[in-house]
Amino acid sequence: MTHRVINFYAGPAGLPLPALERAQQELLDFAGTGMSVMEVSHRSKEYDAVHEEALALTRELMGLPDNYKVLLLQGGAHLSFGMIPLNLLRGGRKADYIVTGNWAEKATKEAKLVAGDHVRVAASTKDEKFARLPKASELKIGEDSAFVHFTSNNTVEGTQWKEFPKTDKPYVCDMSSDIMWRPFDVSQFGLIYAGAQKNLGPSGVTLTIIREDFLEMCEASDLPSYLRYKLHAEKNSLYNTPPTFGIYILRNVLAYNKSIGGLKAIETANRKKGELLYGCIDRHAGFYKGFVTEKADRSLMNVDFFLPTPELDDTFVKEAKKAGMVGLKGYRDIGGIRVSTYNAVSVQDVETLVGFMDEFVRRNG
Ligand code: PMP
Repeated sequence: MTHRVINFYAGPAGLPLPALERAQQELLDFAGTGMSVMEVSHRSKEYDAVHEEALALTRELMGLPDNYKVLLLQGGAHLSFGMIPLNLLRGGRKADYIVTGNWAEKATKEAKLVAGDHVRVAASTKDEKFARLPKASELKIGEDSAFVHFTSNNTVEGTQWKEFPKTDKPYVCDMSSDIMWRPFDVSQFGLIYAGAQKNLGPSGVTLTIIREDFLEMCEASDLPSYLRYKLHAEKNSLYNTPPTFGIYILRNVLAYNKSIGGLKAIETANRKKGELLYGCIDRHAGFYKGFVTEKADRSLMNVDFFLPTPELDDTFVKEAKKAGMVGLKGYRDIGGIRVSTYNAVSVQDVETLVGFMDEFVRRNG
């Protein structure tokens, strides 16, 4: 038996075992080619079938209407931070950014590098260490705003917009750390982007979903080719050599997600995991202290908490590792513990962790 741990890393993160096993089986002889998928031309019919299936599964799982294009790009969320203003904030357009965490702040800074004061801050909770999301009454959104940018899940701080920001403007959203955690209505979204390395597959693929009217706004023929969304859309994400192996794994993950009942089933499991984990933190409120100050804002993907002392945090991480659970050390700027419970983490994995947490209190509380 291969040794596998319970993986709570924040990203790259664990992937569903059947998706990896499929890759293992097909590694040396992909689709009867006598080659691995990494060794086959991206213009071959065998690769093309994978590419098309990855696009189709994304549409199907997310229930995307026909007026959305799915793109499989590179450069991670970081390249998107720049591509979005380069393509969309042209001709004097302005946008409002909601600053709710480390990554939302980075997105805003990068956009300002491109578009200066056409990028405005709609709200920020930085003064409160981003330990909550802004309320609807705190959002300042201009009448002239082309879009409102937000980060649906704040990976570092452990907050998540379960109800999206209240505005009638289109959204542009970084969903890197919670894409496909549940079904949702995409109709208000002009553009969604997500690095694959949490809920979708390996790093190196950036899933981008763009509405046709947003694509039309991208008149950007003066930009270097790779930076133009329109070109990628016209070429079906085959303008240049795509990250073929990453897209292949993403296809395996999505095919597996479909086989277990799609996003509805995944949401049920994610909600159960959240109940178990937050239930444990609240049950031992004198010992485990959550980072997020508003319960409604608590993320179902990243759960941050502290033990009574930094020494106990370290002991917790070490003992969990001995018990086969890895990736629990908190983000460097926050400390404490961070448990990432992306889609591939099972209810049973979280039950194991919660059993360990209960026991840890008994021994150290
Ligand atoms: N946005 C969010 C919400 C993230 O969690 C991350 C990665 N942790 C990033 C952006 C940066 O992603 P990348 O490294 O793929 O550029």
